[in-house]
Amino acid sequence: MRRLPVFLVLDVSESMAGTNREQLEEAIGTIVATLRTNAQALDTVYLSVIAFAGIARTLVDLCELPAFRAPPLPIGGGTALGAALELVMDEIDRQVVRGDSTRKGDWRPIVYLFTDGKPTDDVNAARERWQSRYLSRVDLVAVAMGEYADQAVLATLTNHIFTFDPKVTGGFEVFVRWLTESVSMQSERVGDPDAGRISLAKVDNRAIALARPRTDEAPSADADADCVVMVGRCQNTARPYLVKYDRYQGDAVSTEFLEIPVEGYRITGAYPLTEEYFDWTRQGASGGEASTADLEGAAACPCCGNPITIAQCRCGHLLCLAGPGEAHCPWCHADVHFQGGGEDDFTIQRGQG
Ligand SMILES: [Zn+2]
Ligand SMILES: [Zn+2]
Repeated sequence: MRRLPVFLVLDVSESMAGTNREQLEEAIGTIVATLRTNAQALDTVYLSVIAFAGIARTLVDLCELPAFRAPPLPIGGGTALGAALELVMDEIDRQVVRGDSTRKGDWRPIVYLFTDGKPTDDVNAARERWQSRYLSRVDLVAVAMGEYADQAVLATLTNHIFTFDPKVTGGFEVFVRWLTESVSMQSERVGDPDAGRISLAKVDNRAIALARPRTDEAPSADADADCVVMVGRCQNTARPYLVKYDRYQGDAVSTEFLEIPVEGYRITGAYPLTEEYFDWTRQGASGGEASTADLEGAAACPCCGNPITIAQCRCGHLLCLAGPGEAHCPWCHADVHFQGGGEDDFTIQRGQG
């Protein structure tokens, strides 16, 4: 039985927190459920799931569709694209059967790589390894989610780059259908010598489009520009949480003499994290600093309901707060006093997004 190995390599950085992650988890379930109804896909497709944030890990080894269970996705800090590429190449070496004179190997593997940010690690070594030993025998389809994905880096890995805007209404449904149809088509065409290399479903331009490779922008290791994320701990439960602000651009304010663009970061929500978050985040990495002056709105603590989530202790960490008065820092265990009317803006460490 020749298998069609399909690797889903998913960016689970902090910008995925909240509804994006839930939608992605659901999407994997829907894709697998739909593929199971296609006899050819059911027979040939084997699916693996790899996640990456500050580190990369395999969540599901290549698995036949009837036995596949969609994994819960973690959230971590960073976009270690280099580590993710190294891992998927290791997994191809470990799990994909190569044909020789005595046996037929698996079909040509397909990697779907989803990312929404700029790499926070060095991708050069992984790229060289990819280009010299994998590019010619593995199909890579890269999906750049949102406008801050680094298409210039992706363009050095593959010609198949798509852009996907998760903010478009109904976009995820369009995206799930496109991916499912693409995998179905690939399973139906394995072994067809006229099929050429990879076949992908027609795109629905509302949400997903073929990208024209952009190679003009210099890759930078900065944090994502489209959101600001911060990690705090609940004073009452000691559980970690993530506060997320997304960038908005409003109509410019015009005066007689000049036009002032209106932009900044607006609260999206606060989400509970598990300690697993710290495993998926590279230690010592930070996404730079943000000033509370650029942040609009607030979210209550998702663990205990305290109204303040970005109170900063002397140790530099954030905790939740009911209001002014005595507090206990769940990070450094110091007793801290917060004064009322603390309207002063301050600088905080951002996550890497
Ligand atoms: Zn709390
Ligand atoms: Zn502290």
